[in-house]
Amino acid sequence: MDYGPSVEDSAAVRDWLKAKSPFGHFIGGKFQTPGKTFASSNPSTGEALAEVSQGTAADVEAAVKAARKAQKGWAALSGSERARYLYAIARHVQKRERFLSVLETLDNGKPIRESRDIDIPLVARHFYHHAGWAELRDAEFPGHAPLGVCGQIIPWNFPLLMLAWKIAPALAAGNTVVLKPAEYTSLTALAFAEICQEVGLPAGVVNIVTGDGATGAAIVEAEVDKIAFTGSTEVGRAIAAKLSGTGRKLTLELGGKSPFIVMEDADLDAAVEGVVDSIWFNQGQVCCAGSRILVAEAVADRFETLLNARMAKLIVGPPLDKSTDIGAIVDPVQKDRIQAICRAATDAGAELVGGQPGEGCFIAPGYLKNIAPANPGMVEEIFGPIATLSTFRTADEAVELANNTRYGLAGSVWSESATVATDLAARIKAGVIWINCANMFDAAAPFGGYRESGFGREGGFTGMLDYLAEPPVKPRKEPEAG
Ligand code: NAD
Repeated sequence: MDYGPSVEDSAAVRDWLKAKSPFGHFIGGKFQTPGKTFASSNPSTGEALAEVSQGTAADVEAAVKAARKAQKGWAALSGSERARYLYAIARHVQKRERFLSVLETLDNGKPIRESRDIDIPLVARHFYHHAGWAELRDAEFPGHAPLGVCGQIIPWNFPLLMLAWKIAPALAAGNTVVLKPAEYTSLTALAFAEICQEVGLPAGVVNIVTGDGATGAAIVEAEVDKIAFTGSTEVGRAIAAKLSGTGRKLTLELGGKSPFIVMEDADLDAAVEGVVDSIWFNQGQVCCAGSRILVAEAVADRFETLLNARMAKLIVGPPLDKSTDIGAIVDPVQKDRIQAICRAATDAGAELVGGQPGEGCFIAPGYLKNIAPANPGMVEEIFGPIATLSTFRTADEAVELANNTRYGLAGSVWSESATVATDLAARIKAGVIWINCANMFDAAAPFGGYRESGFGREGGFTGMLDYLAEPPVKPRKEPEAG
């Protein structure tokens, strides 16, 4: 049986990087001559993988101009013609699945099992799903027009998947895009640009400008019709302030501190496995991670024993190794951030179980216990493989603790009773609630938050609406006299 990427795949990726670096931006269907560059490196070893261009305001302007030029023609295609391109992109992503998985793992540090089995297949699925929406747009959204040119800014935790979440619905709706990947992880976005060339996507429909926060800020300032941002609440708030009163559409997917509630009647083995999927997946760098574990007091000791046994079995190691469960944190800066919050939490009286830092960008899985509600570890998004563990006595108390956060992105409830689980789910203020599972994503299911987790939805029918203008309101016809 073919079990996925091998040493040869790694060699192919390294040859590609050697041949293509330094990378220029992808504007108007062509890779531009590289400007001033910065290194994109492998967080598990520190080695530089490639040089990537730092986008300037002039680069952003050129990309917006190319996107504007292409937009009318793209929107004038029939739905099925646009769908043909999206299907072709999905097929090419599948064709390059091994290549893209290895590239993502090298650049981001996530275990190859995750990029191969989760990230890249979900990317293909997202384009297939939205090819369907391209075909159905006029039937399902009569009178809605595309917005025009969309500026899209994404984070580093699921680089190619976040790109797919942004680009697929925008294109299906008839928009063109200027997308900026995060500075730590630009490489799969640049490989995606090649896929756009391979499928013959009309020039200017997708433009990729690489760079840091200053490049992102230039996109926010540019003449675009919508900004779609995924990243930190802090930057999201600054973007919202900038766009306020401009009439431009904005969607924000921000941080979270999601509850993971284990009721007394839960299947505890399954719930422990759920923790693995929830907070120890992608080194905990997941916006909807179930980072606050809340357990019914009656089963808390048994749950913790099972949790410790499972945690001890997780393998922290080289991301390209197929047996690795926990790879590298994306960058030393992020590792320092995680450790600083853990230190603040223990200084304030919490106890850290596991969670020890290793050499380089590695941190072992762990959790904070005996932690007070106002402890920084309980309040701040750690964005690393460290959960909090606390207990409750009644369902009401569980709900109160779950909602005691400024965020509202996701949550998960574990109970063998459908009534208990659905009752609890309905009382948690969050955009997504999973029952007896965690971190399940599907292109057809809208994803997004409340409160400081942002607004707008990505995926499915609702996600499409966020890339379309409201139909013009028809004047109300007065009934004829007589
Ligand atoms: P970040 O906000 O620093 O960066 C995100 C992106 O914004 C990057 O591309 C960055 O270059 C760009 N950026 C930075 N400053 C900017 C500015 N002033 N103007 C415009 N763009 C700017 O966040 P991060 O550290 O890369 O990502 C981690 C955060 O993202 C976490 O808080 C996490 O919860 C959140 N996140 C949310 C979701 C979601 O779907 N809700 C998904 C992934 C990550």
